[in-house]
Amino acid sequence: MDTPILPAVSPLLDVINLKKHYQVAGRDGNRTLRAVDGISLKVARGETLSLVGESGCGKSTTGKCLIRLSDPTEGRILLEGKDLAHMNSNELRAMRKRMQFIFQDPFSSMNPRMRVRDIVGEPLRNFGYSRADIRERVAALLARVSLRSDAADKYPHEFSGGQRQRIVIARALALDPTLIVCDEPVSALDVSVQAQVINLLMDLQRDLGLTYVFISHDLSVVRHISHRVAVMYLGKIVETASRDVLFKNPAHPYTRALLASVPSARAGERGPVQILKGEIPSPLSPPSGCAFRTRCPMAQERCAQETPAPRQLSDGHEVACHFA
Ligand code: ADP
Ligand code: MG
Repeated sequence: MDTPILPAVSPLLDVINLKKHYQVAGRDGNRTLRAVDGISLKVARGETLSLVGESGCGKSTTGKCLIRLSDPTEGRILLEGKDLAHMNSNELRAMRKRMQFIFQDPFSSMNPRMRVRDIVGEPLRNFGYSRADIRERVAALLARVSLRSDAADKYPHEFSGGQRQRIVIARALALDPTLIVCDEPVSALDVSVQAQVINLLMDLQRDLGLTYVFISHDLSVVRHISHRVAVMYLGKIVETASRDVLFKNPAHPYTRALLASVPSARAGERGPVQILKGEIPSPLSPPSGCAFRTRCPMAQERCAQETPAPRQLSDGHEVACHFA
């Protein structure tokens, strides 16, 4: 495995206090659902930062806000110093080339009636490339993701799940992006195929200098691909660390519980850990203070009153817990 890198002095992506609240209709009028509730993170050029956490904790919402597929309620999203959160649609269009999104289900992001040539070439068409350029570029992209050149004339249903995800990756690469948000890109694939797609993503990162925000609930995949990991719970980041520190020395009781639930991640854990009890609370009515306290084996009175701010344990290792 490669060595984790330290966050760069000036990060590619600098997210400050990002919030995404939804207004949800209820019996007593509208209620606020805090899907993402004030997260800050930095991503260095060429690194993979993973976002992990249970279903519903706000990973996908965060990923979509990061590249303005969804409009944040509050906060700043600096890509190379330019604030995406406050850009108008013209300014955003120019930035669109630089940022791509890969979804879990390749079918949801492809038109089944389009040939692979047109699927992969779509972003190039949108940006006015000539037919000849598109043809040449599509051939190169298919080769880059190890698909045969005759794939261009086929339709999505003629491919396996892993091959379809390669088509999606080829399309994501079409405009030479800098940043790719990968949202559970291998969760729908067989385990053996997962490794091939993950290795492809890692090769592409190395060869093209790509930066990934990698969203996953699967910690063994995260352990393989990440340089750094941010753990989310109910719309907040509770711990951020390099991959090795997070897996060897997790500090937040939530991170420790998550790791304890994965047999392959257990080596090197410190002290006894409790497997998570109960359900994640609703983001419509999060607990006061520390949102994790209702499931935390270490919770005390202070946790109900005071929201723990992230604090630094060591270089690059931050935790939001009063007692970790
Ligand atoms: P994850 O990807 O970690 O599973 P999501 O970001 O998809 O979590 O969802 C976070 C929370 O936001 C969930 O409670 C989800 O139901 C809610 N949510 C997501 N999208 C919307 C939406 N468009 N409208 C209302 N609530 C939403
Ligand atoms: Mg999701």
